[in-house]
Amino acid sequence: MVRIVQGDLIAREMENEVRAGVEALVGKGVIVALAVVLVGDDPASDIYVRRKQRAAERVGIRSVEHRLDAATSEADLLILIERLNADPDIHGILVQLPLPPQIASDRVLGTIAPEKDVDGFHPVNVGRLSTGTGGLIPCTPLGCMMLLDRVVADFRGLKAVVIGKSNIVGKPVALLLLERECTVTVTHIHTRGLPDIVRSADIIVVAAGSPRLVRGDWVKPGAVLIDVGINRDAGGRIVGDAAADEMDHAAALTPVPGGVGPMTIACLLRNTLQAARAMR
Ligand code: NAD
Repeated sequence: MVRIVQGDLIAREMENEVRAGVEALVGKGVIVALAVVLVGDDPASDIYVRRKQRAAERVGIRSVEHRLDAATSEADLLILIERLNADPDIHGILVQLPLPPQIASDRVLGTIAPEKDVDGFHPVNVGRLSTGTGGLIPCTPLGCMMLLDRVVADFRGLKAVVIGKSNIVGKPVALLLLERECTVTVTHIHTRGLPDIVRSADIIVVAAGSPRLVRGDWVKPGAVLIDVGINRDAGGRIVGDAAADEMDHAAALTPVPGGVGPMTIACLLRNTLQAARAMR
């Protein structure tokens, strides 16, 4: 029987740890604060932002919201970011993506002070991740590793296949697996022979955004499968990138919903605490 790795329960445990850390800082006169910047009125972004803010409040992190009009110029957004960078009462800065077309995301992400970059997207943090020298690690990849830590005792020499090569999930999770001494293969939409590559894997992380992409016969018995995908099926239900009902022979599987999603938010809180501790 496949073990279902309940990210929602693990995320709750993490929240308790973060809450204790936040309270300890209150005792030293520090109120941990996260600035959340949302440009425009994309409904999905609105939901994500609310979820993150509610989670921050649950653990005692002050969430400071900046909602900007969809027509905001890049220059005005950069001024706000610089102001937040300079504000000693703000420990983390999160700019919800995607940004409207008149704003270049990479310029915005590159303006956030690396030590407040709780999403881990600044080139300095990307560089630190690729050299294994600390820094703030992107939340979803970090959440994937924390889930893997629950089911994998020793990563060294395991074959890991990552499906998807985005900057926010695929590439950073591949680097984290490499750091643990896995033998990592990164695949993408143009990869040839994907099923056979996946069949060789002890660990599979799929972040493609393609429902039921990973079928049961792609997964070798005893493999561990982390499903990052969030999709809607024809009936409007949230589903992942793996055919979860075909995975009985796997050792472990993360559910969608209730797997990686809640871990992403818990890792955002953890990163904000880490940033606040480092600023003291
Ligand atoms: P993206 O669109 O930026 O990248 C998708 C990647 O998957 C690309 O590299 C593409 O080449 C690859 N891909 C797409 N279809 C493929 C196929 N059929 N075969 C092989 N490779 C394929 O997406 P992203 O931002 O990395 O997100 C991926 C998925 O993860 C989405 O469903 C997204 O909603 C979800 N996601 C979830 C969380 C979370 O917290 N759980 C966080 C971020 C993203």
